[in-house]
Amino acid sequence: MFRPQVVRGAAGAAVLAAGPLAPGSASGQEVFRECATVLTPGEAARALRLQAAGAYTGAAPEAVTRIGLTFHVVRTSAGTGGLEQARLDQAVIDANWGFAAMGVQFCQVGPTRFIDNSAFYSITSTSQANALRLIDVVPGTINCYFVNSAPFCGISSFTFSSVQGIVYNNSCVGLPTNRSTFPHEIGHYFDLFHTHETGMGGPECTNGSNCATAGDLVCDTPADPNVLGQVSNCLWVGSASPPCGGLPYNPPVRNFMSYSDKECRDHYTPGQNARGAATLANLRTELSRTLCAPPCYPDCTSDGALNLSDFGCFTTKFALGDAYADCNQDGARNLSDFGCFQTKFALGCP
Ligand SMILES: [Zn+2]
Repeated sequence: MFRPQVVRGAAGAAVLAAGPLAPGSASGQEVFRECATVLTPGEAARALRLQAAGAYTGAAPEAVTRIGLTFHVVRTSAGTGGLEQARLDQAVIDANWGFAAMGVQFCQVGPTRFIDNSAFYSITSTSQANALRLIDVVPGTINCYFVNSAPFCGISSFTFSSVQGIVYNNSCVGLPTNRSTFPHEIGHYFDLFHTHETGMGGPECTNGSNCATAGDLVCDTPADPNVLGQVSNCLWVGSASPPCGGLPYNPPVRNFMSYSDKECRDHYTPGQNARGAATLANLRTELSRTLCAPPCYPDCTSDGALNLSDFGCFTTKFALGDAYADCNQDGARNLSDFGCFQTKFALGCP
């Protein structure tokens, strides 16, 4: 049995923290980990080859890229339990908050899909997470699976991982005390590594001299000794010695890809945003860009066509005081909104 520690964060809120980082315990069951997304030596070599080939640079999108998420909620075989839709909706909000600066936004594609199978309801190993991620995969989207419990908060995939998709522990998703695990795992999906990663060229020097070949391969994320359990009030309270001498550590305890306290993590750096955007453009071409296009405003009925019924729809929403009817976004609903609607109707939809 894993036993997540309960630590107190800045706001006094209880948050889940990982136990020892060893991949397995003596009993054969996995101990609880913050994130079970690990680079194998082969994957690390692959990541370095992609880096050398320029896959992670120079392809920032010109406009917002919209990516669809498929949500698979695991319930018991009797159909009980499972993460509530409100928490899933919050997860989308959290992802959009986290990725706004990268120029990436998300939506849930289609209704929530349920996997009613007690064998996957409370998983205890990475191999179970891998088996789960083969179920009911919806192509063109990021498939996210939500389990009642797991020996980690989340496990994700790199572009070069053999198993694709993300498994989340329900206790780490869509909560006021944890808005950061959801974007953290999507960060991995875009080939962002932990800021304390050592799988490529070992630890990053605090003076940044090896930042392009060690650590997370991103040069504007400071060297990080792994701050797990060493953060208080969103400040690092550890004492690790810098690996290459010189400057003391100043780890990025607010970075999404760190192992800082959940409520402290709130951003990616410009370097991470550039890397993630390039990954999306160069290596995540299987993801559809059209599944969550924003609705066309004058198609009030959302039936895909512009016709007289859209005028009736607009009039009805206007009469009901619906925010939609504030066509010109001036905070009031008045006659000018009718003129605005007519103009947008005349301009049509793409
Ligand atoms: Zn991670």
